[in-house]
Amino acid sequence: MSDDTIFGKIARGEMDADIVYENERIVAFRDINPQAPTHVLIIPRKSIPTLNDIEPDDASLMGELFLAAKEVARLEGLSESGYRVVMNCGEGAGQSVFHVHLHVMGGRKLKWPPG
Ligand code: 5GP
Repeated sequence: MSDDTIFGKIARGEMDADIVYENERIVAFRDINPQAPTHVLIIPRKSIPTLNDIEPDDASLMGELFLAAKEVARLEGLSESGYRVVMNCGEGAGQSVFHVHLHVMGGRKLKWPPG
């Protein structure tokens, strides 16, 4: 499946990003329009448009996204102060890039619920 999204290009190394963590399956990089002092996006290299598109075979990969979120929080010094991990699914929830991703946000007091 072709993935012409910005994140697909970042995953393939075709577009620059401020990468904070990566491995064979995952890339984590700073959001271009940060909503908190730390705002990092975590993507699988595999092209999956939305959470609605994950399959049972993706269970391990999706778990790895959360392990990467924990590692990013540690690297950013957020483990104790707290941080938020969010995934938007679909335009109605605010998803604008259709390559599945987690937002890791922290470094300021975060309100709940989000708008
Ligand atoms: P979504 O709205 O899909 O949940 O999140 C997409 C995020 O990607 C937004 O927070 C937006 O600021 C970020 N973003 C959009 N284009 C780029 C880009 O070219 N580079 C980076 N690093 N982030 C981007």
